[in-house]
Amino acid sequence: MKIDYSEFFHQLEGTELEPWIEQLPERIAHGLRYERHGLLPQWEEMLAKLPIVEATSPSLSEREERDEDVASTNLKTEVRVIGEGIQGLEELLKAFHPWRKGPYDIHGVHIDTEWRSDWKWDRVRPHIQPLDGRTILDVGCGNGYHCWRMVGEGAKLVVGVDPSPMFVCQFFVMKNFIRDPRAWVLPLGIEDVPEAPGAFDTVFSMGVLYHRKSPLEHIERLKSFLRPGGELVMETLVVDGEDGYSLTPDGRYAKMRNVWCIPSVQTLETWIRNCGLDNVRTVDVTTTSTDEQRSTDWMTFESLSDFLDSADPSRTIEGYPAPKRAVVVANA
Ligand code: SAH
Repeated sequence: MKIDYSEFFHQLEGTELEPWIEQLPERIAHGLRYERHGLLPQWEEMLAKLPIVEATSPSLSEREERDEDVASTNLKTEVRVIGEGIQGLEELLKAFHPWRKGPYDIHGVHIDTEWRSDWKWDRVRPHIQPLDGRTILDVGCGNGYHCWRMVGEGAKLVVGVDPSPMFVCQFFVMKNFIRDPRAWVLPLGIEDVPEAPGAFDTVFSMGVLYHRKSPLEHIERLKSFLRPGGELVMETLVVDGEDGYSLTPDGRYAKMRNVWCIPSVQTLETWIRNCGLDNVRTVDVTTTSTDEQRSTDWMTFESLSDFLDSADPSRTIEGYPAPKRAVVVANA
């Protein structure tokens, strides 16, 4: 497998995104230059070593719960490629450690990722417009786990963007096996995505807002990509508090250096309305559990339980409220 976007550009011909065919190659090359990550050449080598699989049968959506699943991983929903076992596959996949977003099941290898991203999807999916036939932008998509789930819902095209070259490599690992032309992950931050006014039916921003120094500008930018009536799906950290309240961590939050501002749900709704979106509604608020985010064999670094105060798990080790996340949906 090579990181190659020619098929993507081909798909953009004759669409509203056609100008991207000219604009993107330089930005993609910039996002993947070797100075961005020392291991990038090694990952490219490992990608090239992935077995060429032809007849796979990917399963990207919900499946029936079986007893064994409940007993083992409780895998109710999935990104899975069913096929014969491949020798040495687990070792190859482990070369792309740390696996943060998933889970994936590839030729019998279960990638038990740090996050149960399927749980997030279960909280989001019932509340959004059906994705069938839609053109979707997923901003800060990580390795593209939810992009595949969107394809599983019938999306026409899913463009994920994420500035992390490692996550882009993990996406191409999956593309090697899933071989579905409808999902792509570009090595770009939102600030590097070329304009495309009104080109998308749904724009997702999940787990990104608090990493942005100017949250309102982030929301405004997301809106610019939406067609009138299109849907914004915002998932982000929130804190308890009234309208107007937000938390600005003094230094780190849950050991993260890049968390700038965490609004209350009311404040977040106001921000979204003030950016000109309508029909703003909070559809879910959930405190993140140490079952949803934890260290595993596929992500051996510290995780949520290490970021919380062991004497009072309702606080981070810095003394802030423990991570709680909201899903807010709105229309352009
Ligand atoms: N959307 C996924 C992943 C969230 S993790 C999910 O909800 O599970 C947050 C992601 O935001 C990381 O992968 C990080 O690389 C990405 N990110 C950080 N800064 C960004 C930016 N400026 N533009 C887009 N994505 C960004």
